[in-house]
Amino acid sequence: MPEELANYDVVVIGGGPGGSMSGTLLADYGKRVLILEAEKFPRYHIGESLLSGTAELMQRIGVLDRIENDGYIKKHGVEWVWGENREPWTVYFKDALAMPYDYGYQVERGEFDKLLLDNARTHGAEVREEHRVTDFTIGEDGDSTVTFQGPDGVSTTVRTRWIVDSSGQGGLVTKRLHEQSWDPYLKNLAVWSYWTGAERPPGLDSGNTFLPTFDEGWWWFIPLREDRTSIGMVVDSKVVHENRGAGMEAYYLDCLSRTPELAKRLEGAQRVDKIHVARDWSYSYDRFSGDGYIAVGDAACFIDPLFSTGVHLAMLSGFLAAVTVNTILDQTGVTAADALRFYETAYRKEFARLRAQVYFLYGGHGSTKDSYFWHARSQFDVPDIAPEKAFISLIAGAFQHRSWYSRYLKRLDVPSELRDTIEQIFDGKSTGIGVDPHQAVVPATGLNYVDDLAIDGSYLRPARSLVTPSGVTVPVTTGLEQLLALAEQGRSSVELVDELATGGTDRDAAQSLVHEVVSYGLLQPAE
Ligand SMILES: Cc1cc2nc3c(=O)[nH]c(=O)nc-3n(C[C@H](O)[C@H](O)[C@H](O)COP(=O)(O)OP(=O)(O)OC[C@H]3O[C@@H](n4cnc5c(N)ncnc54)[C@H](O)[C@@H]3O)c2cc1C
Repeated sequence: MPEELANYDVVVIGGGPGGSMSGTLLADYGKRVLILEAEKFPRYHIGESLLSGTAELMQRIGVLDRIENDGYIKKHGVEWVWGENREPWTVYFKDALAMPYDYGYQVERGEFDKLLLDNARTHGAEVREEHRVTDFTIGEDGDSTVTFQGPDGVSTTVRTRWIVDSSGQGGLVTKRLHEQSWDPYLKNLAVWSYWTGAERPPGLDSGNTFLPTFDEGWWWFIPLREDRTSIGMVVDSKVVHENRGAGMEAYYLDCLSRTPELAKRLEGAQRVDKIHVARDWSYSYDRFSGDGYIAVGDAACFIDPLFSTGVHLAMLSGFLAAVTVNTILDQTGVTAADALRFYETAYRKEFARLRAQVYFLYGGHGSTKDSYFWHARSQFDVPDIAPEKAFISLIAGAFQHRSWYSRYLKRLDVPSELRDTIEQIFDGKSTGIGVDPHQAVVPATGLNYVDDLAIDGSYLRPARSLVTPSGVTVPVTTGLEQLLALAEQGRSSVELVDELATGGTDRDAAQSLVHEVVSYGLLQPAE
């Protein structure tokens, strides 16, 4: 008699932030979850600086208080020395509009990831560390298998209705089933180490990330607990070949000596770790999911660490994946194909938005163009994203952070037309590309309502979306419906913001909504 295989609703491959997030929530939703993690935690991992917006996701799985009380360093802002103008400038999370949290955290990932994985256990997921997944099969009707090896070398196979691939850059499932495409503009290399005794600014600024550039790339300076500082640089990957002789350690120290703002902070500091080197190429897979599996975090896509977005994207996609899989497994009436389409669209939209910001910052560096690194990255015209689309997505996301952007725009080397448009938007002289805020606007003709999905608690439910004239899908919310109804009579953007605010909408939120709707072309100048 063959041995009966253990049955799970979901097997999660990998216990990093993406795996812990999806595993915890699926256990909360009543699913039988097995998380398989190859390493024994705490294990080392790079990616130590978190965004302030990640706090909301940590709260969703009940760990925010722990993080707050565990003494992690708080990051109130980021100090930049970017481009040829070497005067430092700092942006603060508190200046961003409509953001509930004023700071992010700097975390040692070994401990942070362990906290998240232990939390998944507390929420009812079965977690096995030192269990490496070696194989899987995807069954016809979600009846799949996963094979793994424990520390004793014994191989076990379990049956599962669904697989979450959160195995990080290795992408166990995605690599086998899908096409990976590399971003030709972001083929970078990261070289880093740890220091003690590095000089930090006083007061609330002491936990800030510091990002100075130099002629061949840029540095991160991330303050951690116990006076440790993570100091790494991002350079073109071809330096590996060029520095074969002297080695990466000599190259790291040489680059450090060529970045005076950083070298000054390290006078009297001690390097306390080896040199780490990692390929840092941005990529995404052509599909993130299929019937029976879904990929989260780095197993689906990865962006250059310039904006410290990796953990945020892993936890966000972990949340989206949990709701998507829960909807499919509970057969709520939404088809698996529709649910997976929702997941892919939502994750790709966030990925593209953040990637556009990375391009924008690289493109506007304004440094000497005979530097290979900066020259190769100072392009707006990138494949997959038409420049105007990148621009719209940048502005839609940037509007809430306009004080941030307006401050840094002053220092960037962007085409003057682009600069004027952005400045007008930030100054309130325009609410969209080329649209005067005092000009009457009306809903665009031929707006197309489509059946879509939206997150409602632990499920995706039918909802409506609007497809914009440029093909972007925007969820229909009460606020959007209210705005479109108000605009029927041809009011200016300024009047629309006033009316929404008088009706009880927060003024910043009203301004942000009007701006977004005009930028997407849902409202257009009246004839
Ligand atoms: C140089 C560099 C700097 C970065 N800096 C930042 C930063 O400052 N801030 C930030 O937010 N992000 C940063 N990132 C990105 C960040 O590290 C990742 O995006 C993030 O860790 C992704 O989380 P994940 O859960 O998808 O994958 P991971 O955190 O990589 O977790 C995957 C887990 O899967 C396990 N695993 C793999 N294969 C198997 C298998 N076969 N069986 C079982 N388990 C398996 C691994 O052991 C691992 O624990 C940086 C990345 C790089 C390269």
